[in-house]
Amino acid sequence: MIDLHSHSTASDGHLSPTALVALAASHGVTSLALTDHDTTAGLAEAQQAANEHGMQLINGVEISTSWERRTLHIVGLGIDPDNTALCAGLTGLQQQRHERALRIAEKLEKLGLHNAYERARTSAAGGQVTRTHFARLLVSDALCKDQQQAFKKYLGNGKPAYVSMQWCSLEECISWIHAAGGLAVLAHPMLYPQTAAWRRRMVAAFKEAGGEGLEICCGHSNPDHIRTSTQDALAHNLLGSVGSDFHSPTQRWLKLGRLAPLPATLTPVWQTLVD
Ligand code: AMP
Ligand code: MN
Ligand code: MN
Ligand code: MN
Repeated sequence: MIDLHSHSTASDGHLSPTALVALAASHGVTSLALTDHDTTAGLAEAQQAANEHGMQLINGVEISTSWERRTLHIVGLGIDPDNTALCAGLTGLQQQRHERALRIAEKLEKLGLHNAYERARTSAAGGQVTRTHFARLLVSDALCKDQQQAFKKYLGNGKPAYVSMQWCSLEECISWIHAAGGLAVLAHPMLYPQTAAWRRRMVAAFKEAGGEGLEICCGHSNPDHIRTSTQDALAHNLLGSVGSDFHSPTQRWLKLGRLAPLPATLTPVWQTLVD
């Protein structure tokens, strides 16, 4: 069983890399990619745990990029986390995340969330601070009933605590992944609010920028999504990827490795990655 998209406490996941790998192994996952937001800090610990479980860890990362004023997530798979170009790129994004967290916190303070920055940093415990950390605070302070509502009311695009960012370009991101020997996959292509025409332009731009794969089956996808993404991948000669985008065992509808099979018309992105 293969799962090529997951998160740990190095970014906005609930489980440490060790606990994540153990859970994946218990679900029968044989190859897992850890793909934290803009960081590779969890990979060494995950590798150690994978060795203990006799499971394959694929070194990954999920990079924040900007395209046409929207944020697109690009997953890098099979990367060398020590590569200089990749490290420099991620360091820049981490600095941007830090500056954004300060600005989000300032807005949330005005909206009634006290000590927002310090508490978000504490809950990130040395990992990257993400909007998910602020969402959890809004829920624990009973300002929102759940994380979904925190995004809808405060943190989502255009909402009162939203801070718009110019992350790196698709070309920059893909060049770092390639420098590090990895493959670039456009994550959850059906999750961006979009028209069909916009989505097709997005996939074309990703291919044009040098990307290799499209995430076809993810934790959020329904059969319609899978059909549409498969057509997009075939139209642009992209490989297919599968990944749960697992963050937490509290997401009861989502299990590590439990994914629809990749349609047989597509070439799997993992054919050169999986042992
Ligand atoms: P960031 O990269 O810091 O902007 O945070 C993005 C993360 O927030 C995503 O990777 C998801 O884990 C989470 N997220 C985004 N939108 C929602 C939503 N509507 N409900 C719950 N979590 C979300
Ligand atoms: Mn996330
Ligand atoms: Mn994502
Ligand atoms: Mn993700």
